[in-house]
Amino acid sequence: MKLLSLHDTLTRERQEIFPSEGEVFRFYCCGPTVYGPAHIGNFRTFLVQDLLRRVVELSGLKTRHVRNVTDVDDKTIRESQAAGIALPAFAAGWTARFHEDADALNMLQPHVEPGAVDHIPEQIDLIENLLSKGNAYHSEDGSVYFKVSSYPPYGRLSRLDKRELKAGAAESTNDADEYDKDNVSDFVLWKTRKPADGENFWESPWGQGRPGWHLECSAMGMKYLGESFDLHAGGVDLCFPHHENEIAQSEAATGKIFARHWFHNEHLMVDGRKMSKSLGNLYTLSDIIERGFGPGELRYALLAGSCHTKINFSLARLQEARGNLQRIARFVNALGDGLPDYRELCLRAASAGLGLGPFVPVWDALLEDLNTPAALGQLFTVLKPLEKAAAAGSLNAGEMDTARTGLAVIVHAFGWILPGPDAAEDNAVDVPGEIAQLAQQRWAAKQESNWAEADRLRDELAAAGWVIKDSAEGYEVERNSG
Ligand code: AMP
Ligand code: ZN
Repeated sequence: MKLLSLHDTLTRERQEIFPSEGEVFRFYCCGPTVYGPAHIGNFRTFLVQDLLRRVVELSGLKTRHVRNVTDVDDKTIRESQAAGIALPAFAAGWTARFHEDADALNMLQPHVEPGAVDHIPEQIDLIENLLSKGNAYHSEDGSVYFKVSSYPPYGRLSRLDKRELKAGAAESTNDADEYDKDNVSDFVLWKTRKPADGENFWESPWGQGRPGWHLECSAMGMKYLGESFDLHAGGVDLCFPHHENEIAQSEAATGKIFARHWFHNEHLMVDGRKMSKSLGNLYTLSDIIERGFGPGELRYALLAGSCHTKINFSLARLQEARGNLQRIARFVNALGDGLPDYRELCLRAASAGLGLGPFVPVWDALLEDLNTPAALGQLFTVLKPLEKAAAAGSLNAGEMDTARTGLAVIVHAFGWILPGPDAAEDNAVDVPGEIAQLAQQRWAAKQESNWAEADRLRDELAAAGWVIKDSAEGYEVERNSG
């Protein structure tokens, strides 16, 4: 059985991932902070994690997937107060909205989805442990800090040198000036109650207050996955200081390796800048729907770029996704009988193994660090002769069956939502799937500064009668009218 290999942020190497104990692959993903609708940049991260899980499960392994909900922090408190709604109701409302969007995007539900507010005692226990071992200290105002100098490997994940480490930590703590710290890079574990917190405080051995943001993922990760687990994931922005702090406080407390592997995916960008609430350049799933696209097209588009490459968001990408999904759906219709479902395939993978048939190269590309652009390139190469054969009626029953299973593995790995037969047959698609695919490969080559490959693909498109126009939003493909 071939397993997934991933680029591990900690070792900077590609490593095969597998359960360290027993049969279940245990992994933790930092979840949404629920103070507004998650934007599609957040969903890029959650979708990459969903892809990761699907590929692991379709390899025949079981998983235990924990993704938290950050339901108390500076932002949730501030926004709930601005909305005039008590924090629990406010956070519950945005959590429900997150679930609706996640379902629409066909994301698998995590096995456990713990919230920070429900795990205050666990967080307090962790702080007590760190205090008893000398890794944490009280400040005069009643807050508790982690003493970074007590954990020498600090900074290993993000490879920070001492100078950067201090500067980075100082910037990363919003209210750094309001706390007493004997070292600029120490981070807060317990924040003493302040008037601005309103009713959002809890009792602790150090008085009233609330946990620091970094603490919840350590406490809940260890509670639901054990002190050591297989993999921890998040967007690249979380690498420092959040994940660095998680490692420090967890490993100082247990003396064990916290997560064996670390996986970070790149950001979704808009006009060259990270999509984020603070920059006000975000799109939500509803914004996408208002523009005439669906969650299926969004999902396809967000997973079409390599998880280690920034993607610049554009509507052209959704248009392209539509064409490609229609093409895949047309072929599924031509095969008849529908596709086997996800659970059935996972069970087959675990027992007899998957019969991928001609789709082996597509699957292999996914196993290589979730290389989705390569997988899509392979997919359309594999599909071309099959589509022709299906149209000519020359596929026999055995070949149809193999194609159904092989394609189903790919469809379920990506979690694609295929359009129904009517939409699939819609001839209004401007750009044929093959052309869209070439255009996307050229775009990917350009993003990686592979100019020779980008030019080659542009020429190939030109030979097929299409031109690419690049713009600030991305690119568009048009028929060459000249
Ligand atoms: P938050 O709700 O801010 O806690 O973020 C949830 C997840 O979204 C984290 O893993 C972030 O790293 C990730 N994230 C935030 N902005 C982006 C973006 N523009 N592109 C991809 N992932 C993002
Ligand atoms: Zn986290």
